[in-house]
Amino acid sequence: MWLLPILPASPQRTGLVRLAALSPPVHQRAQVHYYALPSRSALNREASGRMPFAWTLNPYRGCEFGCKYCYARYTHEFMEMWESVDFERKIYAKVSMPDLLRAELRQARDKGLPIALGTVTDPYQPAEKRFGITRRVLEAFTSITGLTLSLTTKSLLILRDLDLLVRLAQQHRFSVHMTIVTTDEHLARQLEPKAPPPARRFEAVARLTAAGVRVAVNAMPILPGLTDSRAALEDLVRRAAASGASAVHCNLLFLKPSAMKEFMPFLQREFPHLVARYRQLYARSAYLGGEYRERISALMAELRKRYGLANRENLPAAAAKGTPTYGAAGQLRLPLG
Ligand code: SF4
Repeated sequence: MWLLPILPASPQRTGLVRLAALSPPVHQRAQVHYYALPSRSALNREASGRMPFAWTLNPYRGCEFGCKYCYARYTHEFMEMWESVDFERKIYAKVSMPDLLRAELRQARDKGLPIALGTVTDPYQPAEKRFGITRRVLEAFTSITGLTLSLTTKSLLILRDLDLLVRLAQQHRFSVHMTIVTTDEHLARQLEPKAPPPARRFEAVARLTAAGVRVAVNAMPILPGLTDSRAALEDLVRRAAASGASAVHCNLLFLKPSAMKEFMPFLQREFPHLVARYRQLYARSAYLGGEYRERISALMAELRKRYGLANRENLPAAAAKGTPTYGAAGQLRLPLG
């Protein structure tokens, strides 16, 4: 059933705010509302030249997984939604994306530039069960060959599309990036309340690699005092290797104001002993650097070597020089190591 839009459109509302206002609600489940967001194009050009990809696709705005550290909450602010929880409860599905993509693919291929799916929100979040946009996007990618293509997720729903992923691996230079920040199941539930347990994600990595799909594990973000011990990181890298992953990528937590708004109250509730440390770490910048960064970088390099894993496989020169890259369905990555 098509209901009324949540906001009346007015001449004053322009661009994305207006599109969001015009998006009809199409479904509701518990506290989560889903809207059909009109799109003008499927591929977004990554214009900075600093990323390891040139085009991005995100079939959904907002993400129901609701990770406490998610940096992408700011994207709802573009729609003038300022409550942090709106990001998890107002999900916008770009229903026309697959059709738009078919028209744009040839141009992307002719330019020979990498395409990344799921750079801001998870393309296999729960909404995908209903809307199937990611599956139709993958189908569109099978209509041509020769792309450099990656997909980032935390979701087991990816296995639904194993047939398509295998085809993509045969037709393109294709990799899946499975985000796993910790092997501690309890901690994962606290940090990523609605995402699948890490053990199940490792199982998904094993199934994908057994089917011939190249998979990297995105260990990002690394959270100071929570996931950054040698034992924790070694367990993660060891299990990534045991699951057949070919690489482990990582980055440190960064906290922009929109992410801080959600993360700091969470820390206060669950890990009050860390609050002062985080305030100090992020007092001057949203990014961590210096000795801490170097230490984690060296540790990850050592662990990768021990377990025979790569870091940033096959990335273009700009990324290899240490410029920021995006991935992990919602966590910026500053290459380490
Ligand atoms: S970190 Fe990724 S999976 Fe988690 S809420 Fe953000 S976009 Fe979704």
